[in-house]
Amino acid sequence: MHLHILGARPHAIAYLLRSGATRVLVDCGLPAGTMRDRLFAIGLDPLSIDAVVLTHEHGGHVGGLEDHPFRDGIPIVASDRTCHLLRAGTTISRVRWSPASAGLPFAIGDLTFRGWPVAHDAVDPFAWLVEERGSGFSIGITGDLGYASSQLAAMLLGVDCVLVHSNHDEELLRADESTAVPNRLRVANRHGHLSNEQVADLVAQLAIRGRLGGVLLSHLDPRWNTPRRAVGAIESTLAAIARPEIPVHCLRNGETHCLSPAGPSLAP
Ligand SMILES: [Zn+2]
Ligand SMILES: [Zn+2]
Repeated sequence: MHLHILGARPHAIAYLLRSGATRVLVDCGLPAGTMRDRLFAIGLDPLSIDAVVLTHEHGGHVGGLEDHPFRDGIPIVASDRTCHLLRAGTTISRVRWSPASAGLPFAIGDLTFRGWPVAHDAVDPFAWLVEERGSGFSIGITGDLGYASSQLAAMLLGVDCVLVHSNHDEELLRADESTAVPNRLRVANRHGHLSNEQVADLVAQLAIRGRLGGVLLSHLDPRWNTPRRAVGAIESTLAAIARPEIPVHCLRNGETHCLSPAGPSLAP
C-alpha cells in the first residue's frame, strides 16, 4: 500500500491511499484546484479516485468537496450524522453520500475500512482502520481527537502502523499568550486535539500490547508544535519502553510512503 501526503497541515488535510488499482482519499481539506494540481503532480487523474472517506466535517478536512474535481457520483463515506450534516448544510453536489456504521467493515476495491467514533468537537467524528486485502497490512488513521478512549486503543492494537494527529506541545500551548485562553482551552480539552504527550501515551500502549511497526505524525499546529518536539516526545517514550526501533516520522506535504509489515518507508 502507498500513502500519498496531499495535505498534512491542520487547515488542509488530505491523504491518498493506493493499493493496486484502488485509490481512496481520506479527508479532502484542500481547495479543489489545489487538490487537482497535487494529484496530477503524483501522476494521478482526480477522475480515477474511487471514493472519499471523511473523518469529520471541519473545514480543514472537507473544504475541497465544494466544486470537487472528482467524477460525478463519487461515493463520500463518513459517519451517518456527518453525512447528514454535510448533505443538509452545504452546497456539495455530484456526490453519492454513503453513511458508515461504527465498527462495520466495508470494502473499497482492495481496501477494507472500519470506522470508530472518537472524541472531538464535531457531530460524529470517526477514526478509520484500513486493511489491505492480500497483504493483511493495516493502518489506523485517527483524525482529530481530544483523547484516545480505551475502546479506540483496543481497536488500534491490531494495526501495523498508526497515523496520528499530534496537534500541539503542551508547554508551547500554555506559553502562547497571543491566543485567547478559551481558544487554547478548546484545543486542550477532551473534545479538542491530542498533544504530543498524549500521542506518546497512546503509542506506548500500542507498542507494548499490539504489533505497532511505525508511527506517522500529522496535523501539527505551527503555533504550538514543531516536528522536532513531536517526534522527540514519541521517540523518548519508545526508548523508555525499550522499543526504539519503531520508526517515527512527521508527515510533510508531497511525500509518498510505502506501507508494509516491515514498517513505513519514505519513497524516493
Ligand atoms: Zn483538523
Ligand atoms: Zn477537527
